[in-house]
Amino acid sequence: MTSSLLDLRLEAALGALESEGLRRRIPEWSNSGSVSVQGPKGERLLSFASNDYLGLAIHPALAEAASSAARRYGSGAGASRLLAGGSLPHRQLEERLAEFKQTEAAISFSTGYATAVGTIASLASRGDVLILDKLSHASLVDGARLSGALMRVFPHNNLDRLEHHLRWAREAHPEAGILVITESIFSMDGDACPLREMAELKDRYGAWLLLDEAHGLGVRGPAGRGLAHELNLADRVDIQLGTLGKALGSSGGFIAGSRSLIDFLINRARSLIFSTAPPPMNAAASLAALEILASPEGEKLQSLLALHRKRFAGALGFGQNESAIFPIVLGGASQAVKASDALVEKGLYVPSIRFPTVPRNAARLRVSLSAAHTTDDLERLVRILGELKKTDAPLYDGED
Ligand SMILES: *Cc1c(COP(=O)(O)O)cnc(C)c1O
Repeated sequence: MTSSLLDLRLEAALGALESEGLRRRIPEWSNSGSVSVQGPKGERLLSFASNDYLGLAIHPALAEAASSAARRYGSGAGASRLLAGGSLPHRQLEERLAEFKQTEAAISFSTGYATAVGTIASLASRGDVLILDKLSHASLVDGARLSGALMRVFPHNNLDRLEHHLRWAREAHPEAGILVITESIFSMDGDACPLREMAELKDRYGAWLLLDEAHGLGVRGPAGRGLAHELNLADRVDIQLGTLGKALGSSGGFIAGSRSLIDFLINRARSLIFSTAPPPMNAAASLAALEILASPEGEKLQSLLALHRKRFAGALGFGQNESAIFPIVLGGASQAVKASDALVEKGLYVPSIRFPTVPRNAARLRVSLSAAHTTDDLERLVRILGELKKTDAPLYDGED
């Protein structure tokens, strides 16, 4: 078969990625439990790649809730929520999410990505101003672009530049809605935003704040409610975004906030309105996860994770221990890939993260810890990272 014109063009693009060390492939590892992956030849690796921070994705209570909901409601929702695609588990989940986040209401979406895109694009439009942290997740950036609003980006966690943009927006566009967008815990760096200062600034300039707690939920705050609750700032955050696919061990995303915010999204968020509702079994599994978070077991998992974080940060000399994510920045893409391959040889899977997920010269290994890891797992990781650092391996000697 001859290549079509389209294929020729795509192959050229893939070739260019390959030559830069940036071509991506879906790893052949199959995820068998949150801390172990299985290779194509049946080999098992200890994994530090999952965002399943509490090990709930493999918790029997979630599997049981999902399978009993599947038997009762079927495997798919069949239609959009707005066309009677909803179910009792969806409604119960949203009630529980509002309780969990201590807001008037909540609404769930099929993914965190769909939540971010649908919410931002419906809240802002031409004439409004969106101000984002430079390291904001792709879903937040895509929502901002889709909205058609003016966009301003401030360097990561830089409050002076944030204030500069707020002042400009207020003066140049006095009638505009101004929305500040950030993550509580940054997905590839594991550090936290200066939430208190940001809340003060957005209030001073009459702006709104959207906080993405994808990596804060289950990890920070009482009962894993997130960073905003830990700092007693939740009522200053206008739009609280969360995911159900990370620490909650299921799948989906949600917004928690005022009744008017949620009613508005039901009317305007296109990724909710024009998309089939997530399967009821996902909602049921998320509900079971919320039960666990609120229980003594959840507390135990969260404190075990905190202990792992403290040990790992101490052993590797990390100044920062804000989350379960630890970046080991190596520089060029090929160094990160080589380091990850070297770890596979030793039986560990720690993914390399490259451009465009992170800046070109900041490719890295991303270690993510889970309460499902044992203390032995952690010691093994620390020991092997230490060995690689000492030997020929490409760890820690980035070219740029
Ligand atoms: C993972 C992630 C999302 C998207 O959530 P999904 O449920 O995986 O689609 C949004 N924001 C941040 C910061 C994330 O890390």
